[in-house]
Amino acid sequence: MKKVIALDLGGTKLSAAVVTDQGKVLKTIKEPSHLADGWPGLKQQVLRLCKTLLVEHPSVKAIGVGSAGPLHAEKGVLLDPTNFGWTSKKPIAFREPISKALKLPVVFDNDAVVAVLGEHWMGEASKNSMVVTLGTGVGVGILLNGKVFRGRDGYNSEGGHLILRPQDKDIHCECGADGCAEGVLSGVNFAKWVGRKTGRQGLSAQQITDMAFKRDPEMLKYFEEYAEMMAQFLTGLITLYYPNEIVISGSFAQSHPLFLDKTKSILKKYFKRRDEVVKILPKISISKLNNQDGLLGAAFMAFERKDYYKKYKI
Ligand SMILES: [Zn+2]
Repeated sequence: MKKVIALDLGGTKLSAAVVTDQGKVLKTIKEPSHLADGWPGLKQQVLRLCKTLLVEHPSVKAIGVGSAGPLHAEKGVLLDPTNFGWTSKKPIAFREPISKALKLPVVFDNDAVVAVLGEHWMGEASKNSMVVTLGTGVGVGILLNGKVFRGRDGYNSEGGHLILRPQDKDIHCECGADGCAEGVLSGVNFAKWVGRKTGRQGLSAQQITDMAFKRDPEMLKYFEEYAEMMAQFLTGLITLYYPNEIVISGSFAQSHPLFLDKTKSILKKYFKRRDEVVKILPKISISKLNNQDGLLGAAFMAFERKDYYKKYKI
């Protein structure tokens, strides 16, 4: 049985796990991402977690990392990540220092790309699919004919920064623009948005979700709006890429009973005419991988090692 270490590095949490080539997650350590001391602090945390896992599993041969972006996967660098709370005008080398310190190959990519790879490997995403991650931010990972879709020069698409509500000056995004999808569809930002609308600042996404599950009419109304914005967001993505499936994952995806049916019914209306001729509306589902698609995708890359970048390049 082959084993690798998989890391899922987000703006809030860092998960590290040992994963087998059968997709079995053997052990996971989860900590809040240590971001207060910039890259040096985060690097120490990454190394410490990897070393802890390596003591128990010395046969590990590679490390796969899915990180919040923007980043450049093939160059192995972070590019001023939106949700890390730092400002860095220069790329930060991630892959090389980690690989050198641990003497193991490190494969590195955007967390949404990693999520779509995880869903393709162990979940419901086919070779033409998309994953939308609802974490601290909103990420979009795209597979086209089994390859990772990227933009110019290998930069990742940053679908979370599509502008949804330019007129809503209440929707601020860490990227610097107003009205981004990420500025309202991620759990953290939805909570802030509801806080501003209701004057009840400080409510967490979990509290808002709990209140809505208890049929609080005000919170249900905001989830109705959330469903509409999600439908607009997905319409843009579907129209551009025509995926077979869209899998929604990430911690806020667990609130799906409060928005997904309405989102789907709006999409049916939007695509009614075109769907009569060629079915373009994809299957939209919630990840069934128990929030482990990021770890599984990171492990998948680690098993591919150096070949990953070549093999999955369009
Ligand atoms: Zn943005």
